[in-house]
Amino acid sequence: MTSAEILTTEGELVRAGSEPESVSWQQAMRRAIRSSLHLREQLGLSTSTESIPGISLAEADFPTFVPLEFLARMRPGDPCDPLLVQVLAAPEENREVAGFTSDPVGDGPARIAAGLLQKYHGRALAMPTGVCGVHCRYCFRRQFDYSDTADSTDPATDNMRPAWEPMIERLRESPEIDEVILSGGDPLTLSDGKLDRLLTAIESVPHVRRLRVHSRMPIVIPQRVTTELTTRLRSSRLTAWMVVHCNHPQEIDTAVELAVGRLVDAGIPVLNQAVLLAGVNDDAEVLESLCRRWVDLRVQPYYLHQLDRVAGAAHFEVPLQRGRELIAALRDRLPGYAVPTYVTEVADAAAKVPNGF
Ligand code: SF4
Repeated sequence: MTSAEILTTEGELVRAGSEPESVSWQQAMRRAIRSSLHLREQLGLSTSTESIPGISLAEADFPTFVPLEFLARMRPGDPCDPLLVQVLAAPEENREVAGFTSDPVGDGPARIAAGLLQKYHGRALAMPTGVCGVHCRYCFRRQFDYSDTADSTDPATDNMRPAWEPMIERLRESPEIDEVILSGGDPLTLSDGKLDRLLTAIESVPHVRRLRVHSRMPIVIPQRVTTELTTRLRSSRLTAWMVVHCNHPQEIDTAVELAVGRLVDAGIPVLNQAVLLAGVNDDAEVLESLCRRWVDLRVQPYYLHQLDRVAGAAHFEVPLQRGRELIAALRDRLPGYAVPTYVTEVADAAAKVPNGF
């Protein structure tokens, strides 16, 4: 087994960068790693026994979920690997830190219907599922109550239950909303059938013109970008945009390149948003490399987010001044269209707040 190969519990060999057409995205979800101890074992890392209670506590709050496709891009034996750091439960998550709360961006007060938030003029954020293709330890929704946004379909019949109806009804009553952002959770963890029914319902609201899909699936399980998906998005009467989430150039392997290529070739504009994370990408060379990779792949670097101050994620925070220095370095090195906008999301603000640029 080479350093780029992972042996699964089912005895299957996964290679980083391979085009894993033989493993469906649903199988990839089912075989994902669900324990940080298993994750460490796979990478040949030891766990000191005194840290186990702290890790267990962190995982009880927010379980581990790491697809093998993402694991295969990590460096075995390196506890500081920038992909591993994003997904490995740590005892630091249990620390209470002043200013870090369960709802740092005001999602609760922005709820206008079950599964629907509105923060900004003309746009509404639909949350049809709480399921993700990976669990990022810094996630600002790690404490979010998804009970009224959980996948609202009957697993027995795959039919939409009325839980989505209040969301669609509210859109219908809000003529100022012309753009719907599908978020979550990750909307691309919905099956193509469910997604099709959801899009059909949104398309039935005449004043909605654009659809934005926010997803980390094209990065962590790139085989999710199927022909069925690109065809459905392209054929929608809504103008569809895709916003992926990738923080480090090591996340982009051949399978990811091909997946975003399928989206762009289908005529779907693709943007990337990243979160500035200590120990992951708080480095000018890393960010420069990330932005260069994306523009080479016809993906525009969109936002670099200051960490949302969610409880459990304080150890990921990078000081604002350091973030400003990093953006200044990117401006010196890259063409303007390749430099993301460095922003903070502030509860109750009318838009994301640029951090000094
Ligand atoms: S994929 Fe997005 S919503 Fe899901 S855990 Fe990661 S950051 Fe949070």
